[in-house]
Amino acid sequence: MASKGSLSINSENIFPIIKKWLYSDHDIFFRELISNGCDAVTKLKKLALMGDYNEPDGETYRIDVLVSQKNKTITFMDNGLGMTKDEVEQYINQIAFSGAADFIEKYKDKTNEDQIIGHFGLGFYSAFMVAQKVTIQTLSYKEDAQAVYWECDGGTEYSMETGTKTTRGTEITLYLNEDSYEFSNEYRAKEVIEKYCSFMPVEIYFTNEDAVKEEKVEEVVEEAEETETTETAEVQKEEPKEVPINDPTPLWTKHPNECTEEEYKEFYRKVFHDYKEPLFWIHLNMDYPFNLKGILYFPKFNSQYDSLEGTIKLYNNQVFIADNIKEVIPEFLLLLKGVIDCPDLPLNVSRSALQNDGFVRKISDYITKKVADKLSGMCKTEKESYEKYWDDLSPFIKFGCLKDDKFNDKMKDYILFKNLDDVYQTLPEYLEAAKEKHENKVFYVTDVTGQSQYINLFKEQGMQAVILTHNIDTPFITHMEQANQDVKFLRIDADVTDTLKEESNEEELKEASEKLGELFKKALNKENLSVSAEKLKNSSLSAMITLSEESRRMQEMMKMYSMGGGMDPSMFGMGQQTLVLNLNHPLVQYVLENAEAEYTDMVCQQIYDLALLSHSPLGADAMTKFILRSNEILEKLTKS
Ligand code: ADP
Ligand code: MG
Repeated sequence: MASKGSLSINSENIFPIIKKWLYSDHDIFFRELISNGCDAVTKLKKLALMGDYNEPDGETYRIDVLVSQKNKTITFMDNGLGMTKDEVEQYINQIAFSGAADFIEKYKDKTNEDQIIGHFGLGFYSAFMVAQKVTIQTLSYKEDAQAVYWECDGGTEYSMETGTKTTRGTEITLYLNEDSYEFSNEYRAKEVIEKYCSFMPVEIYFTNEDAVKEEKVEEVVEEAEETETTETAEVQKEEPKEVPINDPTPLWTKHPNECTEEEYKEFYRKVFHDYKEPLFWIHLNMDYPFNLKGILYFPKFNSQYDSLEGTIKLYNNQVFIADNIKEVIPEFLLLLKGVIDCPDLPLNVSRSALQNDGFVRKISDYITKKVADKLSGMCKTEKESYEKYWDDLSPFIKFGCLKDDKFNDKMKDYILFKNLDDVYQTLPEYLEAAKEKHENKVFYVTDVTGQSQYINLFKEQGMQAVILTHNIDTPFITHMEQANQDVKFLRIDADVTDTLKEESNEEELKEASEKLGELFKKALNKENLSVSAEKLKNSSLSAMITLSEESRRMQEMMKMYSMGGGMDPSMFGMGQQTLVLNLNHPLVQYVLENAEAEYTDMVCQQIYDLALLSHSPLGADAMTKFILRSNEILEKLTKS
């Protein structure tokens, strides 16, 4: 006898609301219905464990998803515990519905920006986001249970009668509405299932019902042909072994001691489709005071131009929630690739609530601590690997230090600097080694080729600089200076440090600077040129350009915030380059002593261009002139 009822909710428009809800995430019904199937299996297994259910020998549990594009249906089958009539009444008609109603009541006023993570709580009724009619056939595991058939056409009315299911479990069929036919397409359906269900704990099998029917027809035809033509040995067609489309025991659920290196790499390739090997990984495995498992991989960044963007996939009991949830995963960790499974996360709350949730903060802190412990531990006990990975790790670690105080506290003593001889040192180690040449100054190189002239000068005098070529290094240098107030970072071309100069008479230098300044300004026709004369220990270099650290940093900052359009940099005292002339070089001496000679201007121009060239490429106009002049000089050489 069929019983009819009205779903216990007053609002007539609950379905339209559900349908409209979070337009972009219509596909989550796959997750909800498949995870209900998993729950049903898990519950039955538990009952068996407790002795409340007599599990037949060799019982295997599974979920089947069948799609038919012809019929525009999707069917979800599980052989879990099933439901009795009373249970359908209670769980589907009352609880699930009131759950959905609650959910909508709570969030109907919220804007879409305040999206709800995973939209947990919508559950079974998410089916109505895509279906005009939903039917349930179910048979409970309980002895003498009767099968139940339930049907609801998307209004607030449902009907319930004796069902036809003869095997234990539940079968739910969705008759898709016009807007949602796409989900019965094999590829679309598989794509969504792979996204949400790849690691659900029960084997999931996928069938395209339309294809199955076609295959059967084909087989019949083939057989007919075979019997007609040759009578060859019967080719016993072996049934292809069914493969589930998910992995019910993903690597993170295993104990770290039971996982091999190859398994970790394989898992990484499979999940992140990255065929570069990860550098290393951290297996998180914790069950007190909260439950958290996962694997975090440190990817190999190919070059400084590679985007530093990772993916952290968040799961709740092997059910995929979302990628890169900033509220749970500290921002800098999003540079990594990994999976995190945390069954205790309160996911049916809004994101802004998550942000302020103390529990979520604890999870986030725990992950940060684990990562810092792993890295600092490696620096202490496997220094060689740590150095080997440093170039790859450093952007990540520096970003972490900038973003997260706790991480910074744990990592600050394990920041390495690579020097000109490719030796890795901590800051104190560098400073100690450089003590005799210059105190509390760290010289750094941002472009090994562009600054090679300066590097050579340094090397000649046995001085060291560190190599800081990544974008992150600019803010990181500022950060280091704030943390180490008496240490000053100077780019290698910022100034001519005393170690590079000979002792000399201040008066003499001042005089020479003034005189040479006049000559060069005139020759180059640059009124604002700043010139300084020095006696460099290296006598083969005529001149070099220096650019003060402050003004350069200011310039970089302006660039970073893309300010300064149309503004004159000199307004801020910036862009001030100094032409340093080496009094120990014969050409500079020549200019000084032959102010009025025929070629003096030309020599000045050439010296200046050469200094510029070793600093950065010349502009188009300057380059043209430089080449013409160089030719002219050679010509004169050959004529004289
Ligand atoms: P939740 O899963 O959060 O409890 P749902 O709306 O998804 O909420 O489901 C409501 C209830 O309906 C479940 O708690 C369960 O008791 C019952 N149910 C749903 N699907 C199944 C199923 N495939 N087998 C057995 N019971 C189910
Ligand atoms: Mg559910």
